[in-house]
Amino acid sequence: MTPQQQEKDNSRNSKLIYLPGTDCVLKPQASLSAFTSYRVGGAAEWYVAPRNLAALQASIDYAKENNLPVTILGAGSNLLVSDHGIPGLVIATRHLRFKHFDPETGLLTVAAGESIPNLAWEAAGLGWQGLEWSVGIPGTVGGAVVMNAGAHNSCIADMLVSAQVLLPDGKVETLTPSELGYSYRTSLLQNLNAAGQSQAQRIVTQATFQLQPGADPEQVVANTKQHKQHRLSTQPYNYPSCGSVFRNPKPYSAGWLIEQSGLKGYQIGGAQVAQLHANFIVNRGGAKANDIFCLIRHIQHEVQERWSICLEPEVKMLGEFQAAC
Ligand SMILES: Cc1cc2nc3c(=O)[nH]c(=O)nc-3n(C[C@H](O)[C@H](O)[C@H](O)COP(=O)(O)OP(=O)(O)OC[C@H]3O[C@@H](n4cnc5c(N)ncnc54)[C@H](O)[C@@H]3O)c2cc1C
Repeated sequence: MTPQQQEKDNSRNSKLIYLPGTDCVLKPQASLSAFTSYRVGGAAEWYVAPRNLAALQASIDYAKENNLPVTILGAGSNLLVSDHGIPGLVIATRHLRFKHFDPETGLLTVAAGESIPNLAWEAAGLGWQGLEWSVGIPGTVGGAVVMNAGAHNSCIADMLVSAQVLLPDGKVETLTPSELGYSYRTSLLQNLNAAGQSQAQRIVTQATFQLQPGADPEQVVANTKQHKQHRLSTQPYNYPSCGSVFRNPKPYSAGWLIEQSGLKGYQIGGAQVAQLHANFIVNRGGAKANDIFCLIRHIQHEVQERWSICLEPEVKMLGEFQAAC
């Protein structure tokens, strides 16, 4: 089911709550599997996808008034949602859309819900350099800013000028990369508790990137295509996944450690260590979130036994998972 079909389906036969003064609707027990790139996971107790800042604020106010924990969902491309779902209110940023390319300054200002690959293609078509490397990262702007998404020796922190963030008290703050404490695939926006919810929820609403306009569009499109082609030939884009499951424990690559542990192709239920790239777990069809979770634990155990290295998941796990597999 596509995310659009899932949104329609979630609206049927359900007790909807309309937030006054907005076009915002809260849906109960909304399935999240179509909203994650793994295509697994249970339902959000409540789900909302605001279209502007006022509706986002109203959603947060509703959660506060009703004592609901809040979870932010971008494109769900770095998430493993439990089969038991997520308690509280899931706020999806997918409809927060806006973009402005300023040819005078080379600044690209975009809302949190814009798609990174779409921006990479659009910038390339205009002859703007800077986003070619990101074309294979299927997330949103907000997710990329939070995760410090990166590839091919570039990352979001290198090009971010500022991020607009909605604070828990409703204030909007503009933060610079140094204030976001960036390092390899992390930022200070990732302070999650054990249930995977941000403790002091700060929501990225918009970001400004410095790009370089004025290049030959054909050349930038060709470079972007080359990056995409490289990804397609080295990573398994043909099955649902979350990209790299583990952070690279420098100086090793997680994929190499997993491969050397003989785990390529290892499968639990519908979840398999990809043959093409051992740091990917793919959903071969019908996987449960718990299959993926147990495979993560198995890989960690095997790599720990063999290399005495603790692999740290890059994927964010949301909701409850069973302690033993
Ligand atoms: C095939 C594939 C390839 C991938 N390749 C790469 C790669 O090369 N490099 C890389 O870095 N990643 C890669 N990823 C992982 C993923 O795409 C990135 O981590 C991406 O930045 C996540 O963005 P998202 O919008 O999907 O965030 P989500 O997965 O929805 O969320 C990730 C985290 O960010 C939080 N979050 C999301 N949006 C906001 C917001 N607006 N405000 C506050 N918190 C927010 C969520 O609560 C969650 O904690 C890949 C994934 C796939 C499926």
